[in-house]
Amino acid sequence: MKALVKAEAGPGLTLQRVKKPEVGHNDLLIKIRKTAICGTDIHIWNWDDWASKTIPVPMHVGHEYVGEVVGMGSEVRGFQIGDRVSGEGHITCGHCRNCRAGRRHLCRNTVGVGVNREGAFAEYLAIPAFNAFKIPDDISDDIAAILDPFGNATHTALSFDLVGEDVLITGAGPIGIMAAAICRHVGARHVVITDINDYRLDLALKMGATRAVNVGRQKLDDVMKELGMTEGFDVGLEMSGNPRAFRDLLSAMNHGGKVALLGIPPAETSIDWNQVIFKGLIIKGIYGREMFETWYKMVAMLQSGLDLSPMITHRLPVDQFQLGFETMLSGQSGKVVLDWSG
Ligand code: NAD
Ligand code: ZN
Repeated sequence: MKALVKAEAGPGLTLQRVKKPEVGHNDLLIKIRKTAICGTDIHIWNWDDWASKTIPVPMHVGHEYVGEVVGMGSEVRGFQIGDRVSGEGHITCGHCRNCRAGRRHLCRNTVGVGVNREGAFAEYLAIPAFNAFKIPDDISDDIAAILDPFGNATHTALSFDLVGEDVLITGAGPIGIMAAAICRHVGARHVVITDINDYRLDLALKMGATRAVNVGRQKLDDVMKELGMTEGFDVGLEMSGNPRAFRDLLSAMNHGGKVALLGIPPAETSIDWNQVIFKGLIIKGIYGREMFETWYKMVAMLQSGLDLSPMITHRLPVDQFQLGFETMLSGQSGKVVLDWSG
C-alpha cells in the first residue's frame, strides 16, 4: 500500500509502498479516506531534536484521520464493516492503575499512533477497536479528520467552567483557534486570543474569538483596559508552547484564576512563581483527550451548531503532500487535509 514514510533520519517524508498492516484479534482495519497534518507531523517533517529521539526509522507516520472499517479481528464487538471511524491516537496499556480506573488519558504506558508505531498516513491503518470512534452521519469526512486536534482543544477548554467567564488563549494555532470557538459556543464572555501571526488571528476572529491580539504590536494590558477588564482573566488556556506567552498569561490572570497548559514549552522554562502562589492560581496540565468523554463532547458540540468548517483552509490529494506540508510550515493556513481516495 501507499504511505507517507520517514524513510531515513532527516527532514521530509516520502510517498512509497509499504506492507499492509496485520490485523490482530482485537483490531480494526481501516481504509483511510482523509488525513490532516498536525503540528507533531511538522516536527517529524523537520526532523527536530524531539523527532530524531522519538520516531523509529523507517516508519510511516500520521494520526489525524477518518476512514472506513474494511476488516476486523475475531474478538471485535460493536463495529461493522462499512462503519465510518476516526480514532484515539493514544493506545493505552489497559493494566496500569489509571487505565483500570477508567482514566485512560493518564496511562503511563501510552503508545502514539504515527509516533511510536505505524501511523495513518497510509491507505490502511490497523488499530485496537477500543481506540476507534464511530462518526455520526451528519459529521463530514473533513471534520472527522480533525477530531484529534479538536479533541485537544475540547479537553483543554472544557477543563473549567466557562459560562460568563473571561478567557485568555495564548497561541492561535489550529488548536488555540478551535478552543476559542468552543469557549464562545459554551457561553464565555470575552474570548481573547493572542499570537504573532495575523493570518491565524483573523481566522480566530472568524471562528468565535471576541478579540485577537497581535502581541508583536499590541500590549495585552492595553487591550484589557479597553475591554474594561480591571481584574484579569478567569480562565487561561496556554496553547503556544512559547515561554513569553506563558508568562504573559500568568500575569493577566485574576486571583483564583484557572489555567490549563496544552502548549509544550522548553523543559527549563522559568516563570514568576509569585504569580501562581499569591494569586492562588490553579494550573492543570493537559495531555491528549479523555477517552472517550472528550469524543462525546466533541460530537455533541458539532451537533449543537459549532461550525469548524472554516478551520480547514486547504484540501489536497495526497500526491501533493509536499505542498501540504509547505503550506503548514508557512503559518498561512488553518488545517490542511489530504485526500487518500484518489
Ligand atoms: P502551532 O505551533 O500551530 O501553534 C502555536 C501558535 O503559537 C503559533 O500560531 C505561533 O505563532 C503562536 N505563538 C508563538 N509565539 C507566541 C507568543 N509569544 N504569544 C502568543 N502566541 C505565540 O501548534 P498547535 O498545533 O495549535 O498546538 C498548540 C500547542 O499545543 C503546541 O505547543 C503543541 O506542541 C501542543 N500540543 C500539545 C498536546 C498535548 O497533548 N499536550 C497535543 C497537541 C499539541
Ligand atoms: Zn495504562
